[in-house]
Amino acid sequence: MQRPIYCDHQATTPVDRRVLAAMEPYWTDMFGNPGSGHRYGWEAAAAVDRSRTSLAQFANATPEGVIFTSGATEANNLAIKGIAEAHLERGRHLVSVVTEHAAVLDPLRYLERLGFEVTLLPVQPDGLLDLDRLRAALRPDTILVSVMAANNEIGVLQPLAEIGTLLQQSDPKPFFHVDAAQALGKIPLDMQAMGIDLLSLTAHKIYGPKGIGALVVQAGIDLAAQLHGGGQEQQRRAGTLYVAQIVGFATAVEIATPQAQTELLALRTFLWQQLQNLDGVTLNGAWQPRLAGNLNVSFEDVPGNSLLSAIRETVAVSSGSACSAGKPSHVLKALGRSAAEIQASVRFGLGRGMTRAECEQIVAAVTTAVHQLRP
Ligand SMILES: *Cc1c(COP(=O)(O)O)cnc(C)c1O
Repeated sequence: MQRPIYCDHQATTPVDRRVLAAMEPYWTDMFGNPGSGHRYGWEAAAAVDRSRTSLAQFANATPEGVIFTSGATEANNLAIKGIAEAHLERGRHLVSVVTEHAAVLDPLRYLERLGFEVTLLPVQPDGLLDLDRLRAALRPDTILVSVMAANNEIGVLQPLAEIGTLLQQSDPKPFFHVDAAQALGKIPLDMQAMGIDLLSLTAHKIYGPKGIGALVVQAGIDLAAQLHGGGQEQQRRAGTLYVAQIVGFATAVEIATPQAQTELLALRTFLWQQLQNLDGVTLNGAWQPRLAGNLNVSFEDVPGNSLLSAIRETVAVSSGSACSAGKPSHVLKALGRSAAEIQASVRFGLGRGMTRAECEQIVAAVTTAVHQLRP
């Protein structure tokens, strides 16, 4: 049986052939441990260094600031817990946003249980943060503000540069952490220009391998390690470096182009225009600024999760985050959507290689299903 069209690129992406080719030698010939003091180790260490430099350039940070992790979940945990633990004397208040990924919200809840105070800011109906609310939430004991670059469910882009400026003007200045798992390779992420202190990245949402990411930290920021052991990554993250994955990660970032985003935007605009031929469809989140590949739509008068099951054979999409499948979306709830609307929402995650013809097939399947399901 033919597999459905993959339209869930915010959950994960296939590994690009060029990424795979770059990784291959590091599993077989150049398998050394980058910590070893001989030829095999040096080869591996050189590959890690090149990747580190490349990623640092991309984020406008120093190579020493790049801490390789198993992905964005670990990077977020390291950023949030690592800052909280290292700066106890400065305060115990942390600020974030209700629409963040579970990999930010859960470490914050964990810290709350340890006696930290957390303020979660609401968003506007379009999913964007209100900067006045952020300003009002800051206190002298606020140590960290964590705001995602692009939302994984609705794709909206938070105003990072404005937030960075606002934080730079506050005294004492809290650290600014950004979960950029969805934004990497799609929008510019200049840590200097945006005033970002800590940046979480992952490879598998941009055609890189799963199981590798990084936390990029500006020079001079103290961070408490969350994994202890062999002292790798300047004592900030122990564990033998995943050389092949690291090479694949840097290659994936290097081959991401703005051109690809322009093409995705055209495709998404086409999909949205076609879907609007149905009555009772609502876009979730601002149309702009938004990730080019994301379209999140609620369908009125369609019961429960029946829409997703009805189109499953044609198209692989999700109702929201792959990490909280089964639970009603906290993001759509924060936008003020009703329980029924949340249940009848679909996140279309467009990606490289998708065609107009595929979008037409998707629209046809959705149209048939919606007509059948509506009373
Ligand atoms: C996917 C994702 C994560 C988790 O990243 P992993 O590398 O899979 O751990 C965190 N935050 C956001 C916004 C994501 O989209």
